[in-house]
Amino acid sequence: MGAEGDLVVRRRLFTPEKSTPEAVVAAVDDALTRLLNETGIPSQALCGLGLCIAALLNFETGVIYEAPNLDWHEPVPFREMLQERYSCPVFLENDCNAAVLGEVTYGAARGHRDAAYVTISTGIGAGLYLDGRIYRGSGGFAGEIGHLKHFGKGRRCGCGGLDCLEAWASGKGMARSAAMLWDESEPSTGPLDTAAVFDRAGAGDPLAASIVDGAMEDIGITLANMVTMLNLSCIVIGGGVARHRPALIGQIREKVNLYAVPPAVNVSQVEIVAARLEPEAGARGIYAMMRG
Ligand SMILES: [Zn+2]
Repeated sequence: MGAEGDLVVRRRLFTPEKSTPEAVVAAVDDALTRLLNETGIPSQALCGLGLCIAALLNFETGVIYEAPNLDWHEPVPFREMLQERYSCPVFLENDCNAAVLGEVTYGAARGHRDAAYVTISTGIGAGLYLDGRIYRGSGGFAGEIGHLKHFGKGRRCGCGGLDCLEAWASGKGMARSAAMLWDESEPSTGPLDTAAVFDRAGAGDPLAASIVDGAMEDIGITLANMVTMLNLSCIVIGGGVARHRPALIGQIREKVNLYAVPPAVNVSQVEIVAARLEPEAGARGIYAMMRG
């Protein structure tokens, strides 16, 4: 990122196959070294290094406690591991926390003091911005709405809990529902990923439509409860599932208006809008954080 919060260069990397903390740190370090070489920027010119990651972590200590996508379930002093390699300050933040700050500072939630960023992708999560600042909670784990219960019946979530929202309503959850209805090993069925569920629903398949509608109902209830509890004025929806399907935002907005306590949507207004900075909302947010 440049001095004005503009993106100078972007590289997309894959997570190392063997994603141990050491391997991920080495991959970040390697990518950054190559980027500095390519752009001719000396490493001494780095003012800060910011990372956001889909994990339950403590911003103050930089320790990651749970990163389901990386299969990390023990505490990892991730920021310290990176800090050892760099003289500039290193920031480590949860991806949704960084994204809400990005959208509030530069994107779809500009000017709001009480906002949330919600990602609907492989999993579901939220970043909270309350009373003009990021709200992380007592241990740093606030906003984990993907693990609110109880939705559906009898499905184990990646967190170990039963019937979490994301076990049913995330992209992965919808694909799991599809796998219960159709036999993927049948050549005519094809892969039952999230896109296939939406394609089938779009083509008029009532079972696929019921999977999508059920997921949007569960997400709508969850967001309505957030509005009832926090009296938010803006919810920004991001993540891969929502990004390519703008109609979902309208569906979610209807549910929030239906289920939230009336004054929270009638007297106060709540905007439900698509993220504007994706896929860089997190990077922009952590940049805003580093600028203070
Ligand atoms: Zn869970």
